[in-house]
Formats: sequence, structure tokens, C-alpha cells
Amino acid sequence: MALEGDEVRSEATELLDAGAHDPLDTMRHSAAHVMAAAVLDLFPDAKLGIGPAIRDGFYYDFDLPRALTPADLEAIEGKMREQVAANLSFERSELGRNEAVAQVTAAGQEYKAEIIRDLSDDQAKVISFYTHGSFSDLCRGPHVKATGRIGPFKLLSSAGAYWRGDEKRPMLQRIYGTVWETQADLDRYLWRVEEAKKRDHRKLGRDLDLFSFHPESPAAPFWHPRGMALWRALEAWSLEVRHRGGFVEVRTPAVVRKELWETSGHWDLYKDNMFVLDDADHISGLKPMNCPESMLIYKTQMRSYRDLPMRLADYSWLFRRERTGALAGMFRVRQLTQDDSHVLCRDDQVDDELRLALSLVRETYAPFGFTPTFKLATRPEKRLGSDEFWDRAEGRLRDALAAEGLEYALDPGGAAFYAPKIDIFIADALGREWQMATVQLDYQLPQRFDLEYRAADGGFERPVVVHYAIYGSFERFIGVITEHFAGAFPAWLAPVQAMVIPIADRHNEYAGQVVTALREAGLRAEVDDRSERMQAKLRDAQEQKVPVMLVLGDRDQEAGAVSPRLRTGESMQGVPLADFVVDLAGRVARRELWPYAQETATEGAAEAAS
Ligand SMILES: [Zn+2]
Ligand SMILES: [Zn+2]
Repeated sequence: MALEGDEVRSEATELLDAGAHDPLDTMRHSAAHVMAAAVLDLFPDAKLGIGPAIRDGFYYDFDLPRALTPADLEAIEGKMREQVAANLSFERSELGRNEAVAQVTAAGQEYKAEIIRDLSDDQAKVISFYTHGSFSDLCRGPHVKATGRIGPFKLLSSAGAYWRGDEKRPMLQRIYGTVWETQADLDRYLWRVEEAKKRDHRKLGRDLDLFSFHPESPAAPFWHPRGMALWRALEAWSLEVRHRGGFVEVRTPAVVRKELWETSGHWDLYKDNMFVLDDADHISGLKPMNCPESMLIYKTQMRSYRDLPMRLADYSWLFRRERTGALAGMFRVRQLTQDDSHVLCRDDQVDDELRLALSLVRETYAPFGFTPTFKLATRPEKRLGSDEFWDRAEGRLRDALAAEGLEYALDPGGAAFYAPKIDIFIADALGREWQMATVQLDYQLPQRFDLEYRAADGGFERPVVVHYAIYGSFERFIGVITEHFAGAFPAWLAPVQAMVIPIADRHNEYAGQVVTALREAGLRAEVDDRSERMQAKLRDAQEQKVPVMLVLGDRDQEAGAVSPRLRTGESMQGVPLADFVVDLAGRVARRELWPYAQETATEGAAEAAS
């Protein structure tokens, strides 16, 4: 269920600050009250936990005499509809702390009593309750005027949840629901939830034979041949864009002595996330990031102002000691590969390098059909450097965004402690937003590594580093695009671009020639020469979401032709083989979004694009 982990409000914020008073949130929180009233109606001994609005809906926690069944959720939903139909108004009242405790205790609500007792004196100055019908709940508000204002809703599921998230406290039952302004919004949301289950990259990774996970190496993918084909297609595109942008590739070791991590600061700040090796006489760490090692490459020569900018791409393996056990698939792995970039440049080159980074981001995402959005993360409370430094650094990022004609949102206080950054997001076919790339400005690392270059006037200056990855990690990006395309990758990415299907054994030899012609044009083709019926072979290729199936019969063989059928349903007869090869190779080389499937033309995508 997508809801877990998205709980945007804690118990404290529900009580003390009812949030941003977004009308939809207010309606969702009101629906939680209505649900609590319905549960009390059906289970008079129910004890109430908390019931906040969350992203896309709401929940409420209950201590109940027995486990809830799907039939219970239906009954609760029915009781909720009665309250909505009755259009009961929400009335606010206020009590002092002692009276409030007495009131909830008299009602048998011990969890509520605990919340009130734990309030600080300041928080307890005003303790408010909201009542609708005969149900009253400790609550800061606000609420909709009356229950009739609650839009179309649905209860989704129930799950166990410890009181206050503490496994030593009682396990309560949490009921999740969703509520929207309109029936169309609700329908779209329910469709999204169903669709997300179907598109789960862990399931598709298995079905399409892309990768697998094994307990022998937790949270680290094993790449199968088809997954590797996808990886290489992504890598080739990424390197092509980087090379055009003036990058050169480097590769640096995985096992690195701790002295380097001490210099970079990772040993102090990041050691808990590193795999540490005790190599008899030396302590080393498996590298979680490439940056420090690129600094060592820079330092192997005295650099001059003419050598800069130096743009280094490093796509080597990284290792992070992520908690295992979380079923996050590609979204949280312990071994990953970034399309990592480090630009070492003069201070007067920073503006151009930031613009280059932003333009490479857009270029990279274009053949996926993604339009990135941008967020500028500004100075946090705890930071290094003067206000003048931050004014200038933030100004440069802002200027780069403006110069590229990009609109952006602000993330106040969201920067790293040493410099501001630009975070880059994409929306997928389900309208879900993913943070992908980050462009980070860095004056600290050059200082820690004492980097210099000889300036035009003969003196020594310190370079600046601009860090960025565009896919982020290949692993996570593959997870995202697998779900975005529902596994139906455009031809340029598809692990198998064409499946050759001879109708009978007598066509096998010709099928071999067709595969050879496709492979010689650099295309990924396979032949299905099993002695299955043609329809079965077509169905299997369709299930594997192969973009083009080439059915070969007598007439094709005699004419040196193929009869292509697209995954999307179109078909052609007797296309000369040479013409077909040129056509497909052209689409792949241009990285077209082809064949264009309904799977990726969803309402979500239409919304995201508008
Ligand atoms: Zn409330
Ligand atoms: Zn870096």
C-alpha cells in the first residue's frame, strides 16, 4: 500500500497545529472524526488513538476487542454515509487540562487522557474539542462546517500500528481511508492505487526477467541478461549526453582507506552508513560516494586556469549500509551505481557550469518523455559560511535557473550545511513525483583536499566543485521507469527490441538471417523457434512487452520480407527486411518514444504535462 511512509502529520502536529489548513486536508481530517464516530457506534468499547489527515486521505487508530474484517470496513463506511447524509455540524468547545482529562477518562478514552497529560503547560493553555452529533473528540481543528461537506470517500484497508509507534505499547488497528472533492478525483485515485500495484517494479522485474533479489546478498539486485540490456541502453545514452557536455570518464576504487574519508569528512558524518573493512593493518571503507576520489585525480598534477573546467564522470559501484528488511526493491539498495559527475572549475566558470548541468538534465530526460521540475534548496539554520557567502551562492543558482528559462519552487532551509543546491523532480505516468537529480555547489571539498590551480596572474587559486547525478542511481531510475512504462519500454530501451517468430520449422533458417540482419544494425533481436503455435509465441512476446514481433511465413521468406506486429496492436504485411531494419534502427538511434502505448498515456501523465 502506498500510504505507509507517507504519513505527513504526527500526533503532535495534529493536536498542536492542525496543519496548513488546506481545504482538502480539513475535509480528510473531518472524515477521520466521522469514521471514529462510526467505529464507536459499532464497537462501543473502542478506545481511540489518533486520526490525522495524510497524503491522499486519512487514518484513525483504534483499540478494538477483535480484529477487523473487510465486512467491518463496509459496515463502518455505511455508518459514515449516514452521518454525511445527516449533515451534522462540527461544534468547537474548550476545556482546562483537568476537566479535559476528566471528560475523556469518563468516556473510557485512556489514550486521549495520556495525550492531554503529556501536553506542556503552554500547549495545554487551550484544549479544544470538536463535536458532531453525539461524538466528541479532542482536537485542535479546523474542521469543515458540517459532515455534509465531506466529499466522496472510501475506506481502503486496516493494518496494525503500535500506540505512539512504540513496540512496547499496545498494538492498535489503523483504518485507512481516502476522500476527495469529486467522484472523478476519487475514481482517479483508486485507479492509481490499483495501477501502482500492477506496475510494481519488483513484480515486473520478475515477470520480465530483468533482475532478482536473494537473501544471500540482501538489498542488492542480481541483474539478469534482459536487465543488463536495459542498463547498458541507459548508460550509453547517459554517456552520450555527458560526452557532448565535455565530460571525460574516470573510474576509482571501491576499497578506500579511512584516511581519505577522514579528509573528506565522511568518517565523521557518514561512517554509520559505510561498510568498514578491517584489513589486518589498515581500516578501509567501501566507498559510499565518488567525490573524494575525484579530488585525488585532480591533485595528481599541477593544474592551470587553462585546464579548467575539468568535467569528470565516474560511474563506479557505491556501497551504502542501508537497513535491510525493508521491501523497497530498487528504491533502497546497498550496492548502487550513480551517473556521477564532478566539475572542477574556476569561480568565474560556475555560472556556465550550472547552466550546463541544467541543460544536460533536460536533455537526458527528454527521450523518456519526462519534463523535470526544479526546486532551489536554500540555507539551513545550522550552516557553515557567512550570510554574504550564502547570498552569493544562492543568487548564482537562481541566476542559472533564470538564464535557462526554468521555473522553480523554493525549499527554504533544505540545503546541505555547506552550500545550496537544486533538486530535480519528475512526475511519472501515475502522477507520482520522484526526486531524481541534484545539482550541488561545493566550496568545502576543494578546501578539505587543499586543491589549487595556477591562475593567469601566476598566483594560486582554489577551484569550486559542482556535483551532480542525473538519473540519480541506475538502480532507482530503472525502478522508476519500469513502473512509469509499466514494463512496456520504448524500443530504444527495450531489452529485446524485436522478437522473430517463424510460423513453421521450415522458416527457421530465414528467421536466423533476419536476426543476423537486425543484430548487424546494432539491434537487440531474438528468435522464438520453439515448436509452439504462432499464436502462443505472439502471446508470450506480447506478455514480455517486446515492441515489435516479426512473423515470418512462406511469402515473407520468398520475398525477403517481414510482417511486423507492434506491441500496441498495429501490423503490416510484407515489409522488405532491409527497409524494416533501417526504420527500426532509426527509431532507436533517435530514441523515439515508440511504439507509443496507452500504458504511458494515462490521465496522470496528461495532468503532469499540463
Ligand atoms: Zn479533529
Ligand atoms: Zn560528489
